Amino acid sequence: MRFALSNNERIEPTKGAKGVCPCCGSELVARCGEIKRHHWAHKKKCDDHWWENETDWHRNWKNEFPHEWQEIIQYDESGEKHIADVKTTSGWTIEFQHSPISKEERDSRDYFYTKLIWVVDGTRRPTDIKQFQDEMNLVRNMRNKTRVLRYEFPEDYRLLREWGSSQSLVFIDFGTDELWLIYNNNCTSAFSRNSFVEMMNSSRSDEVYKLLLDPIQKQIDEIKAEQEKNRREQEKKDRIREQKFIEEDLRIRKKYNMKDD
Ligand SMILES: [Zn+2]
Repeated sequence: MRFALSNNERIEPTKGAKGVCPCCGSELVARCGEIKRHHWAHKKKCDDHWWENETDWHRNWKNEFPHEWQEIIQYDESGEKHIADVKTTSGWTIEFQHSPISKEERDSRDYFYTKLIWVVDGTRRPTDIKQFQDEMNLVRNMRNKTRVLRYEFPEDYRLLREWGSSQSLVFIDFGTDELWLIYNNNCTSAFSRNSFVEMMNSSRSDEVYKLLLDPIQKQIDEIKAEQEKNRREQEKKDRIREQKFIEEDLRIRKKYNMKDD
């Protein structure tokens, strides 16, 4: 944790400083070693069971946003509270997920935060990167277009299996310049990481759906229309071929004066 409360102020850890957790109110210890980034640690586990220990990956991501957006306590009507990694002024919560998470917990967070964006660490399991390597190469050669990929067997991809059914927006971070949005359970689309950060930092973050999703939907509709067109053309070809076959059959029958088979 980067911010503790001390006399109602958010303070960063310094040697010997004291503070409490802004969520559960329990005492925190300032860890200011040489190796890990300075952080606050709970003396006993935080009541917010959604809270996970931070990696550099978390911290780097959070630092793409202003301090006052980081580690924000969110409440629901029942009084349940959680620490949102980032909360934008236009009301988006961004959660950076490194560790495995159960479907139940993911669903509860989808429900708890109404406007939620997940950024998932796609580098945690090397096999995930391997699975998407072909797609990543493909996308690299498709610059300047909206780049939607449809998967015939999405369940073969562990990340799609785990995150495809989320009600929120899910981006996978493979540690490259691009983030991969999982869309409709069976599509992905790559976005420039920088544009994502820029957009979420700007007042345009209100327009996430319009800016991110409309172009994807448009392209999916185009792909579908193209497939439908191909299907019709194929049907037409099949019909013509069949017709030719019948004509040929008739011709032969006539020639040899065949009555029936
Ligand atoms: Zn706590």
